[in-house]
This record gives sequence, structure tokens and C-alpha cells, in this order.
Amino acid sequence: MTASILWFRNDLRLDDHPALLRAVAAGGAVIPVFIWNPSDEGRWAPGGASRWWLHRSLEALDGSLRARGSRLLLREGDTLSQLVELARACGATRVFASARHEPWAVEQEARVAEALREAGVAIAFEEGNLLFAPDAIRSGSGDPYKVFTPFWRACRRGGEIARPRNAPESIEPPTRWPSGATLGSLALGPAIPWDEGIAALWQPGEAGAAARLKAFRGGALRDYGTGRDLPAEPGTSMLSPHLHFGEISPRRVWHTVAPRGDAIAEDLEKYLAELGWREFAHHVLRAFPRTAERPLRPEFTAFPWQEDPAALRAWQRGETGYPIVDAGMRQLWRCGWMHNRVRMIVASFLVKHLLQPWIAGAEWFWDTLVDADLASNTLGWQWSAGCGADAAPYFRIFNPVLQGEKFDPKGTYVRSWVPELAAVPAKFIHRPWEAPAATLRAAGVALGHDYPAPIVDHAFARQRALAALAQTSRARG
Ligand code: FAD
Repeated sequence: MTASILWFRNDLRLDDHPALLRAVAAGGAVIPVFIWNPSDEGRWAPGGASRWWLHRSLEALDGSLRARGSRLLLREGDTLSQLVELARACGATRVFASARHEPWAVEQEARVAEALREAGVAIAFEEGNLLFAPDAIRSGSGDPYKVFTPFWRACRRGGEIARPRNAPESIEPPTRWPSGATLGSLALGPAIPWDEGIAALWQPGEAGAAARLKAFRGGALRDYGTGRDLPAEPGTSMLSPHLHFGEISPRRVWHTVAPRGDAIAEDLEKYLAELGWREFAHHVLRAFPRTAERPLRPEFTAFPWQEDPAALRAWQRGETGYPIVDAGMRQLWRCGWMHNRVRMIVASFLVKHLLQPWIAGAEWFWDTLVDADLASNTLGWQWSAGCGADAAPYFRIFNPVLQGEKFDPKGTYVRSWVPELAAVPAKFIHRPWEAPAATLRAAGVALGHDYPAPIVDHAFARQRALAALAQTSRARG
């Protein structure tokens, strides 16, 4: 009897899964396997929050497979040898998998393909987690894009997005299951219980993804254009970890929010463009793999960062004295997620106000975000630092007070994450150091005691950042 291996990677779903559909269509048994080998991912091996998510997502995937007569085989160790050994053990002649585009994954795919070929096993990679193959979109001159708008225009010119396909009704199991590891033995969960806030907010797996999408389509989508910028409101889809782990396909999201034939309203167009930013991030990382560690704009290699572990720690802990920054960092720690507007504010604050290297921020996000994604995280950080694709110019420096007042005017977001400021009036919630002593006393706040005084003065920090930029420009010129 013929058999195929379905190698699960970051495509932990059964719905709209091209590699799974091909494996089933090939006929015979399908052996679904996930191989845990974080050393393949080097510096970007999944962080604590991602591991937490992965544990639950694998559990959910196993449940979905069992409902179709199959199960998820877990393996641990060198990916190449595991795949070759598994193919031998179950007489499989084909492996199907979804393509990934991180630099380590591209390298891994080449090595796996060669090892399997030598073992007489065929492998096919399908584009399962993006709307467009990231290396298929090219400008008129054949180059990759570095600016979002023309990139997205080129993508949209390609016509209708293919419709998602349903999961197969059943998946034929092998007559005998090869040996595998248990989920517990992978030790993905936290050694000490820090995950209470994350566990309360998220339901990893396909069912959780579908529920988020349904709620968003029936609610926040209608007002997405304005709601998406207000961190106190549930104005975005919160699908990012589900999309990162491939628990829902972007095609499924696209066709659920934009049924064919419907006129595309402005709010919807805005949402589709956010999915476009995700595509753009993968496009840029695929074309410029070194950007995961180095700035896309080479002149920033000489930027005079001032590494300061104490400042970095204050930022990580949400103790900078700037309420919107601290609220964001505490939301991240508690929920494994932060609102996009606030991600931009805290990232700008770290690199411009504190002059800490963007990679230090990227690494912290990597460990704490449940949606940590090398393409989107790199793009977001280099955008914030002014050294990446379509980046905000470095000289445009967010004022955290004005940003807070604009996007959290009543201070609702700050109050929910920085409870020590809960009783400060809206007028001063984003600038408590300007509040009269009596107002602070009435709110029960002693600055420097209950809540920190600003770690750095905004006007000073702004001038210092501009001077650092001028130094970089002089070095280039
Ligand atoms: P929605 O507003 O509902 O958007 C829908 C989907 O579009 C998201 O789920 C996401 O997949 C995609 N998307 C939206 N905005 C962006 C964007 N700017 N770039 C790429 N994709 C986008 N996103 C990640 O998924 N992983 C990361 O590691 C990550 N790191 C970031 C770091 C920084 C410094 C910044 C500024 C942004 C980062 N983002 C990252 C992008 C963005 O903040 C999140 O995708 C978004 O907040 C997720 O919330 P949501 O699902 O409710 O988004």
C-alpha cells in the first residue's frame, strides 16, 4: 500500500490546506507528523509565548485529526533524519508540506529535499499560508518591492484570490502507527505558571481561529477604519497568532470578510490591506533574508546606539514613566499580544527615546508575543527604527504623550494596564508629571514611588535621537 507523509510546520489546521489535500488525493495512508527541532531555527527558535501557543495548537490539531480517523504523530530531533527514518518506517514514498519563507526555513527545505531524494522519497511544498508566493511578485524591472503601496497594487492586479477549500472528510491512517513522542515530553509549556493572562484570552487551534474571525466579521469589521487605531476598543481581528501558526488560511479570512461580488467598503479595504502588509513582510524577508538581523538600509549599520541594560529593562517591565508605553508593555507581558498602534509607539520609544538597538526590542517581542513572526516582527521593528522597507523616516519621532492623548483620549487603555494611575483625571493621564500635587495626591499617586517619573525627558530625547541620526548621515556622506 502506498503512503504519504504530511509534514506539519506552521500550518496547524485541516481547513484549506493544499498540502493535506494533495496527500489525500495521492491515495493510500497519510501519516501526519510534526517535528520539534528548535535548533533548526537558530537565534529565532520559538520564544516562551510561542511555545505556549504551540503546545495547545498541536493538541487541538491532534483532536481534529482524530475526528477524521487519523492522529498527529510527534517527533523530536534532527528534522532530516526524522523525516528519512519515518519514511522508511512506514514505507512512504512522498512527503507533502507547506512552504515557509524564513531564511532558516528556506535552507532547511533545501537540505530536507536533498536528503529525501537520496532516500528515494519525493517531496512537494505547497504555498499554504500566504495569499501570494512571496517571490512571485516583482516590479516592472524584475526587482522585489521595498514600498508597500506598489507591492499591494501589483498583488491586487493578479485578480481574484482563489477560494479556500474545505478539509477532507477523512484521512486514511496507516495500518500500524510508527513510534512518536508525547506532547508533554516536548516540554513546551512554562516551567513556572506565568501564563494565566494568556490562557484566559486565547484559544489556540482552528476552532479558536474560526471563532475570532466570526466575531470580527459580525462586529469590529464594520468600523475597522477608525476602530483599529483605538487600543481601548476591541477594534481589530486578533487573528495574528492564528495566522502565524497557520490555524486559519489567509484565503479563508479573505473570503469570509469579502464575499465575492460584494462591493468593497472602505473599512473592508483597510482590513484587506493589513493582510497585504503581512504578505509584504514575507516578500521583503524572502528577498532580503539578512534583514532579520541587519537593517535593510545599510547606512543604519553605523547608527550610534547607546546600549543601556537598565533602560531596556525599564521598557520591558513597563516602568518608563510614559503611561501609554507602560500600558502597552504590560499588556504584552500579560496577554502575549499588544495592539498595533501601541506596538508602533513602544517600538519608537525604545529606539528613538532610549536609543536602544531595534534588535533588542525585536528579541523581547520574539519571546513575549504569541504572534511572534520573523517576517512581520522584522518589518515592524525596522519600520519603527526607520531602517527598513517603507519605513517611517527616522526624524519623525512619535511623542508618546500626544500619541496617548490622540488614540486613548480618556485614558481607558492606560487605566486598564497601569492600575496605579486609575484615578488620575483624563487631562493628566498621559502626562502625570504635569498634574498639580493635590491632583496626584487625590489620585493616590506619588510619582517616583507608586509610578515612575519619566525615564527620559521627551525634548531632550528627541534632540539626542536627531543628533544620532545626523551622525549616521555624516558617516554615510
Ligand atoms: P488586524 O488589524 O486585525 O489585522 C489583520 C491581520 O493582518 C493581522 O492578524 C496580521 O496578520 C496582519 N497585519 C496587520 N498589521 C500588520 C503589519 N503592520 N505587518 C504585518 N502584518 C500585519 N505582527 C505579527 O503578526 N507578528 C509580529 O511578530 C509582529 N511584530 C510587530 C512588531 C512591531 C514593532 C510592529 C509595529 C508591528 C508588528 N506586527 C506583528 C504587526 C501588527 O502589530 C500585528 O500583526 C497586529 O497588531 C495583530 O493584531 P490583529 O490580528 O488584531 O490585527
